[in-house]
Amino acid sequence: MRSVEPRLDEPRVLAPYVRVGFQDGVLFLGFGSIRRPVHDPVLWEPLLRLADHFRVPRTRAEARSFLDGHCEGDTLRAETVMRLLEDGVHLIPAHTYDPADRYSRHALFYELSGADAVQVQLRLARARVVLLGCGGIGGLVAVTLATAGVGELVLVDADHVELSNLTRQFLFTEADIGLPKAEVLARELRRRNRHCRTRPVVREVRDREDLESLPSCDLLVVSADSPGLTSTVNAHCVRDGTPWLNACYVNDIAVWGPLVVPGTTGCWDCRPLTVRAPEGEPELARLMAGINGRYQAPSNGPVNMLASSLAALDVFRYLGGFGVPASLDRRVGVWSHDLSLDEQDTDRDPACPTCADAVPVREGVR
Ligand SMILES: [Zn+2]
Repeated sequence: MRSVEPRLDEPRVLAPYVRVGFQDGVLFLGFGSIRRPVHDPVLWEPLLRLADHFRVPRTRAEARSFLDGHCEGDTLRAETVMRLLEDGVHLIPAHTYDPADRYSRHALFYELSGADAVQVQLRLARARVVLLGCGGIGGLVAVTLATAGVGELVLVDADHVELSNLTRQFLFTEADIGLPKAEVLARELRRRNRHCRTRPVVREVRDREDLESLPSCDLLVVSADSPGLTSTVNAHCVRDGTPWLNACYVNDIAVWGPLVVPGTTGCWDCRPLTVRAPEGEPELARLMAGINGRYQAPSNGPVNMLASSLAALDVFRYLGGFGVPASLDRRVGVWSHDLSLDEQDTDRDPACPTCADAVPVREGVR
């Protein structure tokens, strides 16, 4: 929610996302998730008059004086109507929405989410995010963050664009085939928002030394699929105090999380989240390695978009400081065919060999 409540003597305006209407004999104030029923007919006219009054900026005193003139001296009714409009996120600071500003529609989303849009945008502008993987998920997360005004993106990928990537890696074109993904992505992001600083890093990331060579950041997003990389990233980030978020697909399931905030949430190693080779069964392990060695993911555009959009929304929540990221302390999967949710708790295990001694990350530590 808002870190600083608006001063009531400052002008506020009816948020542009507020709509009103009747359904089944009830007046509804607001639309979508903020919709609120108003059953009492004596409130309808003064409430609509007050909402109309707030189409231009008004102080609370101005609004209250206006309202008293429409409630025939009924103070209780005037207070009820005032509270209906003031509760929630129906009124926003007058300066919040400038339709000409490139981030204005996002500002409305942040206000709708109970945040101070100006503060959210500032936090995003100060943030640096490292993306490990610039493919189907990494590329879509990157363009979502860049166009939303995240300050700096470090794009890490050793791969080059291939023809079979184009079904889901939508920022690449046929003319880009053979070029390094990180560099093409950086070029495309610069075209979309010149204020976002992009740093392509064309190299493999396999071990601790590789990770330590990358710039420090406020959040690391992993969408690369090298075997064992997730555990290596987790150990590095917990040791380093860097929050990180996993985003991927498991065949036809779009998966994001956990968002690991070292010292605060659980980590990748707190609980077994994926299948592993059996211990003490070398023949079974050998057979499994042979079978799994030929695995090729049925990667698909819509599933990539689903995972990347939900992951990006959690990045906004975490870096922007509003709401609660859906992947905090859990790994979530959306089944693309039947839309059911698969959730794995990733609560912190105090005996976890990786994160038991981790201390909470300080905000703005970088
Ligand atoms: Zn742990």
